[in-house]
Amino acid sequence: MNMPAFMASAALWVAASVMAQEAPRLPCLEADGDCVAQATRQHAVHALATWQADLARPLDARFGPAPAALVEYLTLDNLLNGYPERPRSVHPDARFLADVQGAIADLPPAIWRLFQDRLIGLYFVENLGGTGYTDFVVDQNQRPVAGYVVLDAAVLAGQTANAWASWKESTPFRPTAGYRLQARIEADADDNRRNAIQYILLHELGHVLSIGANIHPPWNLDPKDVPASENYPYFDLSWQVARQENRYTSRFDADFPQRRDVAYYFGAKLDATAMAPAYANLEKTNFPSLYAATIPGDDFAEAFASYVHVVLMKRPWRITLSRDGEAPMLFDACWSAPRCAAKRAVLERILGLPAR
Ligand SMILES: [Zn+2]
Repeated sequence: MNMPAFMASAALWVAASVMAQEAPRLPCLEADGDCVAQATRQHAVHALATWQADLARPLDARFGPAPAALVEYLTLDNLLNGYPERPRSVHPDARFLADVQGAIADLPPAIWRLFQDRLIGLYFVENLGGTGYTDFVVDQNQRPVAGYVVLDAAVLAGQTANAWASWKESTPFRPTAGYRLQARIEADADDNRRNAIQYILLHELGHVLSIGANIHPPWNLDPKDVPASENYPYFDLSWQVARQENRYTSRFDADFPQRRDVAYYFGAKLDATAMAPAYANLEKTNFPSLYAATIPGDDFAEAFASYVHVVLMKRPWRITLSRDGEAPMLFDACWSAPRCAAKRAVLERILGLPAR
């Protein structure tokens, strides 16, 4: 096959930079659904005790290739969900690890310290079937107490911040000539891989921070099973539980008909013509981004990432929608706008920051 030289060398570089380990031997046949479901449910990765050595490492050193047990679990979980990807543990190259280290070192210390007892580690795989993944672990009383983050190093290897953000924010809309969505989360001089990793990491850290913290219902609970007596100060600002339909609805749904069709990554459900109306309606809610409007867990993860990035780290965040021949429409972070004031106050309390 004829391949342009730059592509061939890029492919070689990726192959050399992300050294994959062998696939784990699974405790089940792939076709044995009952075995897969049981092995997933009862897996050792759910137990805090499995991770004691990881949690004992200094916080800044808690990243590396995914351990075999975790790869086995991710494979079982993909099988259970019908995802075709079979993850492998990888040893990223030194430059990639330096970017991860740099992304962490650059976070506000007061924010990073919040993860001392909560973050088990950042683990690298390839072929995850997504960019990032976070799950919680439970103590001996079955209480969720900490979490681990899995990152697909092969996907991250080629990213830069603005291209990644533009791609992600475009995925809910079917590509159509003449319509364009651009996201800008870094100035040109900072538009690099380290900062793509940092933003992706911030989102996953938002999920870790919510573990056992009464911010929103746990993500392993069906909406119908959320106790009616439970109060979640953050969740309650935007969401309601429709127990009969076993789903979450937002308090803004009557004026935001596009929300239920916002689907990121796997198959757009909205036409490009819905971009401008969806963002116009989003401006009337307290969701910090369109992704935040999808489910309660991602509402908090997006808010955490956006708040730390924009307010604490003073970085840009803007979505520009353009259509041939028309003036572009701009959508900015909401933290200085009245629409997000109540959410900002709850978030700042959760982060232990002084009230303004
Ligand atoms: Zn998420």
